[in-house]
Amino acid sequence: MDLHLDTTPARTAAVPFDAEGRYRSVSYWHETVDMTPGPALEGDIDCDVAVIGGGYTGLSVAYNLKRLAPDLDIVLLEKAVVGHGASGRNGGFAMPLTGWDLLYTVRKLGEAAGGAVYRVMYDAVSHVKKLVADHGIACDLEATGYALINTCAARERRARKEYACAHRLGFDHVWLDKAALEEYIRCPRFRSGVFDPHPCVINPAKLARGMKGVVERAGVRVFERTPLEALTAGPRVELCTPKGRVRAPRAVLAVNGYGAALGFMPARILPVHTFIVLTEPLTTAQLERIGWAEKRASLETARNFIHYFRLTADNRILFGGEDATLYWRGRYYDRDPRVFDALKARFRAYFPDLADVKFTREWGGVLGVTFDMFPTFGVCGEHNNLYYAAGYSGHGVALANYAGALLAPRIVADLGRREAATAPFWNRTPPYLFQQPLRYAGMHAYRAALRAGDILQGA
Ligand SMILES: Cc1cc2nc3c(=O)[nH]c(=O)nc-3n(C[C@H](O)[C@H](O)[C@H](O)COP(=O)(O)OP(=O)(O)OC[C@H]3O[C@@H](n4cnc5c(N)ncnc54)[C@H](O)[C@@H]3O)c2cc1C
Repeated sequence: MDLHLDTTPARTAAVPFDAEGRYRSVSYWHETVDMTPGPALEGDIDCDVAVIGGGYTGLSVAYNLKRLAPDLDIVLLEKAVVGHGASGRNGGFAMPLTGWDLLYTVRKLGEAAGGAVYRVMYDAVSHVKKLVADHGIACDLEATGYALINTCAARERRARKEYACAHRLGFDHVWLDKAALEEYIRCPRFRSGVFDPHPCVINPAKLARGMKGVVERAGVRVFERTPLEALTAGPRVELCTPKGRVRAPRAVLAVNGYGAALGFMPARILPVHTFIVLTEPLTTAQLERIGWAEKRASLETARNFIHYFRLTADNRILFGGEDATLYWRGRYYDRDPRVFDALKARFRAYFPDLADVKFTREWGGVLGVTFDMFPTFGVCGEHNNLYYAAGYSGHGVALANYAGALLAPRIVADLGRREAATAPFWNRTPPYLFQQPLRYAGMHAYRAALRAGDILQGA
């Protein structure tokens, strides 16, 4: 595996961390939980499995390895703080979506395989609820369910087909005509929707930090502010960080959208950004104006460029989406004023009755997106000892938290401790997307086509 680090600093818009390095200014979520970093690695150490990346994927792998084989010595390296990446910044929707939607997945994989994949995704959602309950993680989990809303006739026709397909596969989705939808939310643009009762929402940074505590208590050694700078393959992988090295017979790359910067599948798992704006807390009277006070369902519009919106525990509205951007040369940004302005304008257009509500926070982050929107799990390298899970394509809250349940049994089996298990999307190679600069140009042409599709459909 050829891994090289892109050490070029991002040109703009990186959030300055506060003087004590507490990483609280990254997003609203980071302000709600203790983000003080633990120790960095100093010196050289050996372990059984080294995990690179302190997001849900890395935490989940460490957690599941310890469950299957408590005596394994596991080390987790995080370049900033656990929960610094997408796992601490996301919208917090734990839902069963993979691919573009269920209809797309079934068309691509067939009804039986597509249905099986969705069952895994529902297991992933249940897994998040169970993790939180089993370990008493205070992350404001709310079992709100989730409604996908149609804003145009074309999307409504597709939603009807998808709804029929879901029922054939045994999923208990509920069709909402306009009157039924208005029991969830009122907006003149919203025509109909489909409600799924299973998804939940969480405070993402609280979940990530809570899981950090869980794995540490299980004996995992977590090093923060410890970036992987070079990886040397071999029967024992060697991981170089600024002040120390880790040697391990097995390593796991759990860096998702940051993988491209490490040279991991840069033309297959793209560092695409999504952004969020957040309002001040709303009063019950304000929420009643749009019919969102009682049923607190989490919502998303059915478009190529979705809008996702939900309530936080203190009744702020989180509103995200509108665009999905790959920046020039795959650079990383935490802020994009153009997208923030577009999001706020869209929110005002949807909810004119909330014209008096102020926006108080804005942020964004990077996710790993594949061209067919399906993830990949697997093992690679000459010595077959470098594992990975990535490419959740914007739907990793449930799946990344479940990634360890899929990867850990394979790792433990490869250590000769148990029978090998199968996992979906195992060693799948996502579609290849040209060399740079064609990749950048191609992605932007595709993005323009998706946007034109939304405009033509009136979505
Ligand atoms: C704004 C936003 C909103 C989202 N909303 C949703 C949502 O509502 N629902 C949903 O399902 N999904 C959502 N997602 C996607 C979801 O958050 C991700 O799929 C998921 O968090 C991926 O987890 P991860 O652990 O694989 O990656 P990450 O959380 O990105 O973790 C990777 C970690 O690796 C670390 N790292 C990178 N390079 C190195 C290195 N060289 N050495 C050591 N560590 C390194 C990073 O600092 C980071 O902490 C959203 C994403 C964003 C950005």
